[in-house]
Amino acid sequence: MKPIIQTDKLTKVYNIDGQHSVQALKDVTCQIPREKLTVITGPSGSGKSTLISLMAALDRPTTGRVYVDGKDISFSSDLFQARYRKKRIGIIFQEYNLLEELTAVENVAMPLVVTNMKRAERFDLAASLLEKVGLTDRIDHLPRQLSGGERQRVAVARSLVFDPQIIIGDEPLSNIDDDTQENLLSLFKRLRMNGKTLVIVSHDHKFIQLADHVIRLTKGIIDGS
Ligand code: ADP
Ligand code: MG
Repeated sequence: MKPIIQTDKLTKVYNIDGQHSVQALKDVTCQIPREKLTVITGPSGSGKSTLISLMAALDRPTTGRVYVDGKDISFSSDLFQARYRKKRIGIIFQEYNLLEELTAVENVAMPLVVTNMKRAERFDLAASLLEKVGLTDRIDHLPRQLSGGERQRVAVARSLVFDPQIIIGDEPLSNIDDDTQENLLSLFKRLRMNGKTLVIVSHDHKFIQLADHVIRLTKGIIDGS
């Protein structure tokens, strides 16, 4: 099977103030196999978050390309990128990005307001996703009433609302207890079994052991390249 995502010599330079710049990625060429779990690992500042933000079309590379199913997404239109993010990608952010004034079920249902689903349908779907991540008894809690691990699980449930083909996560196991980690790991295993492609940034041995493919970054360069 052809890889679902391929990058070709990706380089990303952040300009800080016009005078200083940081090269976050340098000539990164890699592949993400379809329906597998890929773990991206490496020290802090090595470019992991930058790499997944380019794969998710949240940002554009300075040079190089990202191909998804052979199509270049890196320099496609804003509209195309927005559609790609919505239709194909589920993103779990490092800092959860939950809305503090909304309950768990409202947070999960929120992305669905752009669809023509009725409110009750949106909430039913959100509640069923929260059940999948083991949060049935927390659906009416606000983020501040949840533990770190519970917030993380709300973020995972929300990433699944459009039934994405590709799930991208930035250190989803950090700051959560062992039981919740096990819970999330088995959820990710189940998603892989159901044909999802997972791309997860993690330092965690448990995740790396589970991975079908590991990409190691050091200072913006893939190890061994
Ligand atoms: P990691 O996720 O591996 O910790 P990042 O991709 O977040 O690494 O960052 C890689 C490098 O790029 C770091 O040196 C970081 O400080 C820098 N960087 C990341 N985002 C920005 C930004 N928006 N502006 C300027 N520098 C950035
Ligand atoms: Mg990071």
